[in-house]
Amino acid sequence: MFNIIIFGPPGAGKGTQSAMLLEKYNLVHLSTGDVFRSNIKGETELGILAKSYIDRGELVPDEVTIAMVEDFLKTRTDANGFIFDGFPRTISQGEALAKILTQLGTNIHAVLALEVEENELVSRLLERGKVSGRTDDQSEDKIRNRFGEYNNKTEPLLAFYEDQNLLHRINGLGDIDHIFGALCEAVDSVRG
Ligand code: ADP
Repeated sequence: MFNIIIFGPPGAGKGTQSAMLLEKYNLVHLSTGDVFRSNIKGETELGILAKSYIDRGELVPDEVTIAMVEDFLKTRTDANGFIFDGFPRTISQGEALAKILTQLGTNIHAVLALEVEENELVSRLLERGKVSGRTDDQSEDKIRNRFGEYNNKTEPLLAFYEDQNLLHRINGLGDIDHIFGALCEAVDSVRG
């Protein structure tokens, strides 16, 4: 398997770039945000629980998120590899992911971190909120809260992956195809 994490704050472009990467490298996409949203739509127990956090711009608790990811991965052992989008978002999620992948006889091969400054992100999210209908993208308070969560809980993962020599920092500002090119260059450098 070949496994990539696409990393970055809300609005950095993880979803857009994941769609292009998974096609090029034939990977299975796991967006925890998408899985939560489809559970919310289906009014499942998981969806009702997740909604209460997502609506406040808070992270869903680790136990819940990790159990969901574990279920997903264990039913997709035939995959060529995964692209993790929006997961992990805390150090404990990062540790849990490493453990699960070890059990599957694989590991993370690259962490691609998209870097974009906060004011640009806020305006991108507010724009997205107008068309996507995502309520967490429609209020600046909720958006600021998500950045608070990112800075406190998620950003420490950068050092976690840097220590493992897995981190590639990519400028997330500019043309989508240009950013995609930079991501592919990083992926190809580890794929050999
Ligand atoms: P964005 O990257 O724009 O915040 P996502 O779709 O990745 O969008 O996530 C939307 C929301 O779903 C997050 O604000 C959070 O509440 C929840 N969520 C997604 N992934 C995780 C995760 N790994 N751990 C905890 N909560 C998560």
